[in-house]
Amino acid sequence: MSLISDVIQSTKAVIKGMANTISQIPKEKWTVQYPDDPVTFQPRYRGMHLLHVDEHGKEKCVACYLCSASCPSECIYIEAETDPRPYEERIGRDERYAKVYNIDYTRCIFCGFCVEACPKDAITHGYNFELSVYNRADLLKTKDDLLITKQKQSKNYRIALSGEDVDSEYKEV
Ligand code: SF4
Ligand code: SF4
Repeated sequence: MSLISDVIQSTKAVIKGMANTISQIPKEKWTVQYPDDPVTFQPRYRGMHLLHVDEHGKEKCVACYLCSASCPSECIYIEAETDPRPYEERIGRDERYAKVYNIDYTRCIFCGFCVEACPKDAITHGYNFELSVYNRADLLKTKDDLLITKQKQSKNYRIALSGEDVDSEYKEV
């Protein structure tokens, strides 16, 4: 008797599962054929950081260490330098600038605290998300990797238009 009951229960479960599968077929598909098609991000997406420059290409960072102090993962390393040359000739917008600015992406949790802490709008999250590497050491990104004027942008993403909802896949239908 219990064998028959087990068979009935199992059959019911299979039918229920198949019904659920079949009911999904006519619905809109969320599968993205990456990398043939770009991944869509909301504007708030936190990808690899960008270090910004002013309208004349001078680095905005003044090496104040507020970002590294606020980083819970202690993954930002900065070395400050003073450049007394006139504005036109120096590297940064201010005399003080970051000679070294490294982020260790083996530790970064993309929390955004560094962006919030920066008083100069010198660092933001960009959209680059393809951070996979074969060597751990390659996840240590230097200023040359992070500067907005030097960072290579992936072609495999697009940013959602206003009103475009790309989070629906996480909502209960
Ligand atoms: S996003 Fe968070 S963990 Fe990553 S560098 Fe900034 S403060 Fe540190
Ligand atoms: S990125 Fe901003 S918070 Fe960090 S050292 Fe530079 S100016 Fe200071």
